[in-house]
Amino acid sequence: MKEKLAALHELQQQDSALARLQKDYAAVDHGLVEKEQFEKAKEAHQHAFDALHKATADLHDTELEQKSIEVKRSDFEKKLYSGSVRNPKELQAMQDEVTMLAKMRSTLDEKILATMDLIEVLKRTEAETKTIKDTVMSAYREKHEAYKLKSDGLVKEAKKLVSKRNKTAALIDPPLLKKYEILKSTKHGVGIAALEDGNACGGCKTAIPSNLLRQIKESATVQFCMNCGRIVCDLGKK
Ligand SMILES: [Zn+2]
Repeated sequence: MKEKLAALHELQQQDSALARLQKDYAAVDHGLVEKEQFEKAKEAHQHAFDALHKATADLHDTELEQKSIEVKRSDFEKKLYSGSVRNPKELQAMQDEVTMLAKMRSTLDEKILATMDLIEVLKRTEAETKTIKDTVMSAYREKHEAYKLKSDGLVKEAKKLVSKRNKTAALIDPPLLKKYEILKSTKHGVGIAALEDGNACGGCKTAIPSNLLRQIKESATVQFCMNCGRIVCDLGKK
């Protein structure tokens, strides 16, 4: 019985180690905070980039409009001063047209200057948001790589442990193994405990009465702690 229980106790150590690994695995930092920061920075940069792109396109459109008005005005002026038109009414209408085009041109000039100023501001914003985006992106990448490394290491360790555990489990009689599994699942992951300090249950630290102690050390059957109900084994002597 002692050998069987020693194997079961070893299985308990392996199961406890696996449980610790699972806990460590769940606690590994996924870098979710950094990911969220990166998403936000990416969005801010995209927003700035789009605004810059739109302002540049606006500037281009306004410049084209300005050119076409300039062409019209110059045509009217040529006609006006060529002497070919003599009708005073017609001349006045053309003069009015030239004045109106000059006003439009002036409005467009102002718009072009304002758009150029805006583009300067947007260029700075685009560059700043890009720097922030790149910085948080590298922080996120770093975190993610650390997470991968840590979690991959834990998975590797767990796989090795599971294979060892399965070998140990194969040494134990199925009914005893089943009993252990049930106890483990109901008693905070610990189904079997070794005697501690000569006479205490290693699971609940309660002192065990001498008659039960004798049975644990000598009996050919499995003994249970009268306080916590776990299997108690004696690893002291073989
Ligand atoms: Zn106990």
